[in-house]
Amino acid sequence: MIKVNDNFCKLPAGYLFSEVARRIEAYRKAHPDAAIIRMGIGDVTCPICQAAVDAMHRAADDQLSEFTFHGYGPEQGYAFLREKISEYDYKKRGINIGIDEIFISDGAKSDTGNIGDILSPDCKVAVTDPVYPVYVDTNVMSGRAGELCDNKWSRIEYLPCTAENNFVPALPVGNPDVIYLCYPNNPTGTTLNRKQLAEWVEYAIGHNALIMFDSAYEAYITDDDVPHSIYEIPGAEKVAIEFRSYSKTAGFTGLRCGYTVVPKSLKGVDSNGAEVSLNSLWNRRQCTKFNGASYIVQRAAEALYTPKGQKQVRETIDYYMRNACVLREGLTEAGLTVFGGVNAPYIWIKTPGDMSSWDFFDLLLAESNVAGTPGSGFGPSGEGYFRLTAFGRYENTVEAVERIKKLKF
Ligand code: PLP
Repeated sequence: MIKVNDNFCKLPAGYLFSEVARRIEAYRKAHPDAAIIRMGIGDVTCPICQAAVDAMHRAADDQLSEFTFHGYGPEQGYAFLREKISEYDYKKRGINIGIDEIFISDGAKSDTGNIGDILSPDCKVAVTDPVYPVYVDTNVMSGRAGELCDNKWSRIEYLPCTAENNFVPALPVGNPDVIYLCYPNNPTGTTLNRKQLAEWVEYAIGHNALIMFDSAYEAYITDDDVPHSIYEIPGAEKVAIEFRSYSKTAGFTGLRCGYTVVPKSLKGVDSNGAEVSLNSLWNRRQCTKFNGASYIVQRAAEALYTPKGQKQVRETIDYYMRNACVLREGLTEAGLTVFGGVNAPYIWIKTPGDMSSWDFFDLLLAESNVAGTPGSGFGPSGEGYFRLTAFGRYENTVEAVERIKKLKF
């Protein structure tokens, strides 16, 4: 029989969201009349904005004519979209990112998962804890994580983010080569301000570490002091790769489009000690393994940068942030301690008393018919916490809060 990659076998079965879905389904079967409100999986509920849909119609029509038809596109993405990103997402914030430093992708999950292809299997990794599971699992798959004991991988440094440290991770002590940071954060909904992020950049510069900065939720930032891009911090272009996504910005979870910035000034070293450009390696990786995001979807993404697109995207984000506000205020009134939801679409609840994350999940499902995500599924420091998302319909969000208030914590 064929030999398999042992690293995959190390991954514990039962991906978090499958277990959440399994429990909801079991409850639904036992209580067929229950009107369950799902606020667990981070998918969006608002439709794609008109500007993007109009652009897709036009792009679909392009495919009808031999003169405007688009087949394989550039692996790095079309210049029309990369130019908009460079101009609107960076230049307007005073950041100089050239279009050859921008790689269009089919979403941030693929790129945050695949980026490890260009790094040595020996690299030591640090993650904030709790964490978006993709960073950890993909490092397990590529053999960087060591062994799983007590819910932790032996070669990964976990940086706890809890109420005790105000969800600001302490700098690493184990000299990691790679550090994953996600701000605004999934799952805690918290952020780092400019000064706090600058400490990480300074650390990375001083310790030759590479920061993987996932800013999939930057569109939700409301505070002026929270950076939208790590490149707002001087020197970050020498130590950080940034991942962005149109999924939560513009509801592209089904369309699939995002991008990754790999600055040309980012350098690594090969086993002979020779300096290597990470931008060149990622370009090589993409040209070999990726054939580009679809033309139609890239046209939709381009339309988000038009005045109409910008206004429509803003309206949707405001819609979700109104939900976040309802959740924060309502759950606080219900007697719960809540975090996040100001610069991010996630609400991070401290479970009451000593209740475990899964016990709180079962309680909310049974007593309020509200489904969320147990914090422990995001890492050891997520135990005792619970995540609700603001991506639901407004009416459902209000209803969920009313139901939870009846529980009186
Ligand atoms: N990064 C974070 C932190 C996320 O929470 C998600 C989605 O939930 C992603 C990346 C994936 O985004 P995409 O839909 O672009 O793959």
